[in-house]
Amino acid sequence: MNKSTLIHAYDRKSYSPRVMMKIDLRKAYDSIEWDFLHEMLVALRFPAQMVEWIMQCVTTTSFSLSLNGTQFGYFKGKRGLRQGDPMSPLLFTVCMEYLTRGDSQSVRVMMRAFLSFSAASGLQMNRDKSDIISVAECNRVVDKIVCRIRGWGAKHLSYAGRLILVRSSANTDARLFGRVFLLPKTVIHKVESVCRSYLWAGSADSHKVPYVAWDQCCLPKNKGGLGIVNCPLWNVTAIGKYTWWVANKKDCLWVKWVHQIYMKHSDLWTYQPTNNTSWVWRQVCKVKDQLMHGFVAHRWTESAYSVQKVYEWLLGAQQRVTWQPFVWNRVSLPKHNFLAWLFVKMRCLTQYRLIKFEVIADGICYLCGAQQETQAHLFFDCCYSHRCVQLLQHWLGVWWQGDCVDWVIKWRCKSLCQKMIVMAAISGLVYCIWEARNKCKVDMVMKRPETVIEQVQKVLRWRLIRNDFEQQKGNTLAWLRDKELV
Ligand SMILES: [Zn+2]
Repeated sequence: MNKSTLIHAYDRKSYSPRVMMKIDLRKAYDSIEWDFLHEMLVALRFPAQMVEWIMQCVTTTSFSLSLNGTQFGYFKGKRGLRQGDPMSPLLFTVCMEYLTRGDSQSVRVMMRAFLSFSAASGLQMNRDKSDIISVAECNRVVDKIVCRIRGWGAKHLSYAGRLILVRSSANTDARLFGRVFLLPKTVIHKVESVCRSYLWAGSADSHKVPYVAWDQCCLPKNKGGLGIVNCPLWNVTAIGKYTWWVANKKDCLWVKWVHQIYMKHSDLWTYQPTNNTSWVWRQVCKVKDQLMHGFVAHRWTESAYSVQKVYEWLLGAQQRVTWQPFVWNRVSLPKHNFLAWLFVKMRCLTQYRLIKFEVIADGICYLCGAQQETQAHLFFDCCYSHRCVQLLQHWLGVWWQGDCVDWVIKWRCKSLCQKMIVMAAISGLVYCIWEARNKCKVDMVMKRPETVIEQVQKVLRWRLIRNDFEQQKGNTLAWLRDKELV
């Protein structure tokens, strides 16, 4: 933040193109050459007597080692400034003066100057901590994400697999950059478009129409989304922390700077920055205006800054969904979870939806060949699915009618474990019917309903072995054994 304030106005068009280098010097104080210090003092025209005094102080250091509580002799130092000596920071600045007077025509020349500086002074760059900061730094976020997605290149991954990758990328890369400054809108749009394209099409630049709107995907799972972070809102939330800092007068240099130079005792909530304040500060003020009502109404300044609370406030009043335990049930396979999510949102790509998008003219159900393939028909009303549901109910020993999701959510089952297994069986059934329908469409092969149910059973058994249900005692375990689930 300080760094950004210091490079304030670097991007003004009226200024010549410029760049700022942050260079961390390795063991700076310990490795400075005395001859170099002497030359610098002379070059900067310090009085000869003073130069002699300084060099006396610096070069007469001697050290002793303490080993197992015993001190061992004294030996003289050969270079370096003493840590903790009040004179050392001043002398170090004198040495650094050499570097600031190096050729700054271009980075390359600068680097060359730095290398010769290294040779003369004995100071070396710590490459891990150094950085070159330019105005176009933001684009690195997009490049990094695009690069990573190209690297995955996994078209054959299921939606569930891609979702994990998109979530990890949006949640780490964009969040990491968005924590420091307000990302430009173009950058955020690009990040979102790349993530969206990868989720729905498996590549970074596809124009496939998404099944569900992106802002819906970016809701938390309990509000009906996929739990992908909403980048613009998260960015505002992260920057909102600086509003909290300024409001609470946090003890740090940047906050003091802002109060003394910009705000000058004015009220934070009515304060408006002028055009000659730094870009970063103006961005912080923009965020401040956006969050003001939240800060005032919920008294966020009276407790520690909660990213979670602010983010939820920005998302707005979204209703919690009742179907979260069904869709994101941990007994189910992740790919079943994803289809179950499309299923409850009524977004499975059935023939009916293709007609709606005017991709096809008429869409008869592949499984029965009798009626139009809507989502309700395919999973409930079709004679084929009807048979599958009957077989599943018979196996589980539980019966329902009509909307299975609505039923299973409201079902008052004494054992939570048993309920989760029935939920997983239902979402497994939805998946396997969808698969049977696709096989019919592509290969023109009709699976028997019995085969579909066997597949549901197989997956469920496998999941139950992987999930630890050992602790489930009594009735549930007996019920599981009775169904040959374990
Ligand atoms: Zn049908």
